[in-house]
Order: sequence, then C-alpha cells, then structure tokens
Amino acid sequence: MENLAISITDLRYAYPNGGLALKGVSFQIQQGECVGLIGPNGAGKTTLLFHLNGIFQSRNGTVKILGNKVCKDSVKHIRKEVGLVFQDPDDQLFMPTVFDDVAFGPINLGYDKVKVQQRVDQALCWMGMQGFDKRSPHQLSIGQKKRIAIASVLSMDPKILVLDEPTSNLDPRGKWDLIELLQDLPMTKVIASHDMEMIQSLCQRTLIMANGQITADDLTEIILSDNQLLRQYDLAR
Ligand code: ADP
Repeated sequence: MENLAISITDLRYAYPNGGLALKGVSFQIQQGECVGLIGPNGAGKTTLLFHLNGIFQSRNGTVKILGNKVCKDSVKHIRKEVGLVFQDPDDQLFMPTVFDDVAFGPINLGYDKVKVQQRVDQALCWMGMQGFDKRSPHQLSIGQKKRIAIASVLSMDPKILVLDEPTSNLDPRGKWDLIELLQDLPMTKVIASHDMEMIQSLCQRTLIMANGQITADDLTEIILSDNQLLRQYDLAR
C-alpha cells in the first residue's frame, strides 16, 4: 500500500452543463510504473487527468496521491507532487522567455536564485533543450514547445508526471526523439494518448477508458495485441 503513487476509488464527475463524464472510476498505480491511458474521443481521459493534480475536485469518490487525499487543503502540496502537461503547449507556456516559463514553478515555491537556476538547467537538460533559455517560446517549433512545456513541469521535480497526448502534431522524428527523452525520466508516469507506438514503447501497463469508465486494465502487450478489444473501442480499424 505504501508504494502507491495514485489510488482512485469510485470517482464520479459531472460537468456543470453536461452529463456524467466519469462514472465510477477506480484503479491504482504503483510508484515507478509508466501507465498508458487509451480510449476514444470523449471517453473521459482528460477529465480524469485533471483530477490527478486537483484542477478538478469531485466530492464523489476519492483520489489519493502518494497516500494524500486530493482536496482543497492538500491541493498546493499535490501540485508539487504531480506535474500535468497539457496537450497544447500554448495552454502551458505564457511567459516571454523559455527561462521564465521553466523557472515559474520553482520561483513560486520560493526557491533562491541558485536553486531556481539548478532546477531550470536540470529540466532543460532532461528535455534536450539546453541553450534555449533566452528564446521566446512562441517562436519555437511545435516539437520544441512541447519539450519546453514538459520542462516547465519537470522543474518542479514532480514525483508523478501526467502527459496528455504528448506526441500529437509531432512529425515522426520529433515523436521518436520525445519518446526517447521520456524513456529516461525516472518518475511515475501516466500518459493519455492515441499514439499506440508510443504507448507500446513507454508503458508496461495500459488502461482503456470508454464512456467514463475503465473498461480494461492489463499489460500493454496484451491490450495492444487484442485487435477485437481495440476495435470495440474505436482504437483500431
Ligand atoms: P477525452 O479526453 O477522452 O477525449 P474528455 O474528458 O475531454 O474526453 O470528455 C469526456 C466527456 O465530458 C465528453 O462527453 C465531453 O463532451 C464532456 N466534456 C468535456 N469537457 C467539457 C466541458 N467543459 N463542459 C461540458 N462537458 C464537457
């Protein structure tokens, strides 16, 4: 039990003007696991990811991160533990320079200049983006922007990294470069994607989500080799 990174029990969530987006989601992820989350559009993947760092907090069901329940009082601490990378880097990057974006988190944590610089250097190094600190994020390619968006989360030194469609819009070279960089990150990872090649390369375990529920949870090789299962959820031809 003490090795659990994420524990979710019977999580339900309804958007104010919508129907139920999560309909009783339960699963656990051990520390150090890299877990894929796949499912058709509208399945509830993004809604689920938003619960992992407290952007959404549901009163129905529980989300525990490293043993701590996500709630109003814990959310500041939870945001330090869980780094959430949005699908669109333009939703994440808002500062004039790469340095400012990657330093934003550590500065907010109150770290001194030396520690902020260390965190920025380490995060840029993890993403292979050393030397880009003075550039404007908005003048970078989509692949570079994605890496800076991930670096801006890694600079908080999260224990859990949550990625929403990290390879979307990348060309094959950019995609495989990113996969290699992600492979070297040691923390627990949850990756929502339609990119089965990436899921196969990075994730030992995969969850299928459909219609607000987890409908399969198994080794990635078992899930991805079951064409009938994939077709059932519009994940294969
Ligand atoms: P996925 O990430 O798997 O594509 P989402 O979590 O985005 O799925 O959406 C799950 C369900 O919630 C869908 O039915 C979607 O229409 C609905 N939904 C998503 N965002 C909103 C919103 N802001 N307001 C109302 N309904 C929403």
